[in-house]
Amino acid sequence: MNVAEGNPLCTCSSENLIFPFPKRVRILMLVPWSYLKSWACLACGHCCKDYAIPLAEDEWLGLSSLFGPRVAEQILDKRCLRRGVGGRCIFQHRHDGHWLCSIQSAKPMTCRLFPFKVCFHPLFGRKEEASYPYSGGKVFIYFDVDCRGMEWGKPGVELVHKVLPEFIGLRLRKGRGQYYSTARLRPQKPLPPVRPILSACTRMDFPLAVIE
Ligand code: SF4
Ligand code: SF4
Repeated sequence: MNVAEGNPLCTCSSENLIFPFPKRVRILMLVPWSYLKSWACLACGHCCKDYAIPLAEDEWLGLSSLFGPRVAEQILDKRCLRRGVGGRCIFQHRHDGHWLCSIQSAKPMTCRLFPFKVCFHPLFGRKEEASYPYSGGKVFIYFDVDCRGMEWGKPGVELVHKVLPEFIGLRLRKGRGQYYSTARLRPQKPLPPVRPILSACTRMDFPLAVIE
């Protein structure tokens, strides 16, 4: 049985895809997860700069209630997170040589899921290389090679038993907590200018603090 049966999330539609800026053509380069030895986010910031992040309705409502309507901008037919200097997401901050997200616990699902794509049907051939057993069935997981945090090779224990299950849980909305699926860095000092948001984000799904 495929776990997608009867599941409203059973889709690989573009709704959950990160899509490129209008003037830049990018072909999604997805490979089955079994080609990876390991993956860890390097906090290089690439994915928060070169992509537009579409917002779901509830994400738009949550973020705009905190930061105002200018948190988003229209790109093609999508409402996306606004980009600031150099095309970077307005919530990205440079910290100790890394690029960090200042709304970690409130960031959109698209951000949470990158660079993995968890599907309920195979996207192309070699489906066994993408399949992953889950809950008596299987899902199909792909990796976007535009991310710099991977190492090729035989899948390692952490990838198989920690990283991928966390991404599956996020995809199925079974939790929002992230450890293995995000940069394992924590700033030693709060990131400006959203200090209240950081502290609030650690306690609830959506922060209630407002920008300073
Ligand atoms: S997910 Fe990949 S591209 Fe994005 S910051 Fe982490 S290592 Fe860099
Ligand atoms: S919300 Fe956070 S993770 Fe998403 S693009 Fe902005 S800085 Fe990156």
